[in-house]
Amino acid sequence: MAEFNGLEHIVREQEPLAQYGWLWTEGVAKYFAEPTTQDELSILVGQCREQGVAVKLLGGGSNVLVASDEVDAMVIHLSAAAFSEIAAEGNLITAKGGAKLVQLLSTAAREGLSGLESLAGIPGTVAGALKTNAGTHNDDIGQWTKSVKVLTREGEVAVRQGDELRFAYRESSLNELVILEGTFELRPMDAVEVTKRTQTQWILSKGQQPRGAAGTICMFRDHGGVTAESLIEAAGLKGTAMGSASLNDSCPNFLELHQGGSTENAIALLNHVQAEVAAHAGIELVRQVEVW
Ligand SMILES: Cc1cc2nc3c(=O)[nH]c(=O)nc-3n(C[C@H](O)[C@H](O)[C@H](O)COP(=O)(O)OP(=O)(O)OC[C@H]3O[C@@H](n4cnc5c(N)ncnc54)[C@H](O)[C@@H]3O)c2cc1C
Repeated sequence: MAEFNGLEHIVREQEPLAQYGWLWTEGVAKYFAEPTTQDELSILVGQCREQGVAVKLLGGGSNVLVASDEVDAMVIHLSAAAFSEIAAEGNLITAKGGAKLVQLLSTAAREGLSGLESLAGIPGTVAGALKTNAGTHNDDIGQWTKSVKVLTREGEVAVRQGDELRFAYRESSLNELVILEGTFELRPMDAVEVTKRTQTQWILSKGQQPRGAAGTICMFRDHGGVTAESLIEAAGLKGTAMGSASLNDSCPNFLELHQGGSTENAIALLNHVQAEVAAHAGIELVRQVEVW
């Protein structure tokens, strides 16, 4: 068993992860920590490195499906105030990785800075959005990113400037251990107009996302301009269910898992949809959701 000297107040063992994500799954983290300062984070990461404990970062958990009974790692959750500050200066906004994306968008609207409006309605944190290059068909967070501050696996803080960063569809080159903060270069615009655009996008996005009591997760990436949703529908999979896991009726690229439901059902359904779309359209859908 690893020991985290001096960090006992922030480290827990066998922490259930369902409460931190969007799907009700039963898995626990072998170790789980919510550091309160960047110094604590650095010490924690150093102790993990010395003891050979793998580290995983969890943001809002909206793109993670916990499939294992026990995630054999230190799962770090940047929920403390020190990791969610947001500051604006001129046409730049700097947001810490644990800040909610929605808070970044509110700041941009309040400051009259345009660019990020199309991200309205996407759940999760700034770090999660940077890592997955969250966005819509036309826009993504990467297009507005000037620089990203990271904590490397070796425990060093580094700033990656725009020309060192690569953003592609739902992917970024940010493979560092921890995304600490992002700086976004936006366009000055009337604050009322930015607010209107953000609200309109939010309403549109909510209309396209599942509603209901079940936990939900977005399963697959779109394929070369064709939506995963249309491929799933064309394969006749609308309404498919496996035990406690089912495809959302109106948005079939979203998997729902009912409380107390089995993760095995969720994985079986993901695999089934992938296989059926491959058989029907000859297209191997790529998972958007990360399985732990
Ligand atoms: C209802 C719903 C609607 C969605 N709609 C969209 C959409 O329209 N567009 C879209 O792009 N996505 C969408 N998603 C997917 C998801 O919301 C995004 O990928 C989101 O940006 C993930 O952010 P998160 O904070 O929840 O990250 P998490 O799910 O917690 O993590 C995602 C990845 O980021 C890593 N990570 C998190 N924090 C850090 C950190 N501090 N440092 C390093 N790595 C970190 C994790 O290890 C993991 O690899 C949707 C999901 C749901 C459930």
